[in-house]
Amino acid sequence: MRLLNCPSVASARKPAPTIHSALLLANIGQLLTLRSASTRPGPRRGVDLKELGIIKEAAVLCLGGKIISVGHTKDALRDPWLKKNRSRVNEIDCSGKVVLPGFVDSHTHPVFVGPRLVDFEKRIEGASYEEIANAGGGIRSSVEAVRNASKNGLAAKVAASLQEMAAHGTTTVEAKSGYGLTVESELKSLEAINEAASRWRGAVVATLLGAHVVPKEFQGCSQKYVEIVCKDMIPRVARRKLAQFVDVFCDKEAFTAEETAQIFEAAGKYGLGVRAHMGQLSETALSPFLRFNPASFDHMDHVNENDLHELAKSDTVATLVPGANYFLGLKEYPNARRLIDAGVPVALATDYNPGTSPTLSMPMAMSLACTHLKMSSAEAIGAATINGAWALRLAERKGSIEPGKDADLAIFSVQDYREIPYWFGVNRCELTVLNGMLASQR
Ligand SMILES: [Zn+2]
Repeated sequence: MRLLNCPSVASARKPAPTIHSALLLANIGQLLTLRSASTRPGPRRGVDLKELGIIKEAAVLCLGGKIISVGHTKDALRDPWLKKNRSRVNEIDCSGKVVLPGFVDSHTHPVFVGPRLVDFEKRIEGASYEEIANAGGGIRSSVEAVRNASKNGLAAKVAASLQEMAAHGTTTVEAKSGYGLTVESELKSLEAINEAASRWRGAVVATLLGAHVVPKEFQGCSQKYVEIVCKDMIPRVARRKLAQFVDVFCDKEAFTAEETAQIFEAAGKYGLGVRAHMGQLSETALSPFLRFNPASFDHMDHVNENDLHELAKSDTVATLVPGANYFLGLKEYPNARRLIDAGVPVALATDYNPGTSPTLSMPMAMSLACTHLKMSSAEAIGAATINGAWALRLAERKGSIEPGKDADLAIFSVQDYREIPYWFGVNRCELTVLNGMLASQR
């Protein structure tokens, strides 16, 4: 165990580090570092996805929001710096527990007002998409509520979700707008995300999803709405630095491949990264989009063989969101085995949203990945941490427990990491460390 020099402050809005913010997690039963022995750069693929880098009887020392050292507890306690400063270090005994990197939930839609209970009940009764919409449900009910909400009201909702996510072990969240669908309401949604993020110690990556669905005012003339997204929304969001990514729902119910390319082009012109909802309802040829270097393609229920091989050669991450398939009661799930075995990097996310996936629990998403996607527990953990970080282009700082990375950790009251996806529907996360600070305790 080697101590490094105290790192600089991670971000201007975080409090300055002091010796009092030193944190030692000691006697960890199983520490999952997610360090890989592979020299292959980029997101984890194939067999590398399940490399957890486990250390038993381990310790992690954090200072100033960064991980300073990682190793065996006995080595940590022998360290001269720690011996001298131990009385001033906040020490947590993690005997019989599992510690792993905080989850990176790389696909969420947290800017909404209320649950969609009409959809829920109607779907149980077997109602169609149109019948649900006619009964006052569907995505339009969320849009109306967001348009009428205040920025502060939305920020409070997002802030509450972030707290709840941290309580389940999540420390980095991608948060999309997408229920406003006017320039004003999309900007308001992104402002709400940024406002909530400023009050949270974890990391939030904001994404403009102005192209979520075609709003009712533009039914039958989607191209006019796409022009607004490209020529008004994207430039304003970029100018005000309200988002890092632009997302498009590219599918038969939403935007065409041509419209998606048009939006990607505009995002690139303004220096924003791109990602897209792809292959949820129908298959779209993915290879033509790789020239835009998308960070991720999400859902991926339908992917053709040719695209599989092209994706395996790229760093674009396939983000799977089995919570949506579960909540919609679908029999089919994305074919994770086919993707992983072909060498496509796979991440897992909750797709937290009021219509199709009202869960913010990454362990639940991982449990579904194991039981329905046939991913191993180790693969699910790799997909929920380091590959989530790659999907947000944050792997330099997030997703593994290594000196120099951000001190984002989750402590689970289980003895074996396989219990994390095993105990479904209950929260076994005991404590979360966000940027070196304790965030959540049951
Ligand atoms: Zn989504």
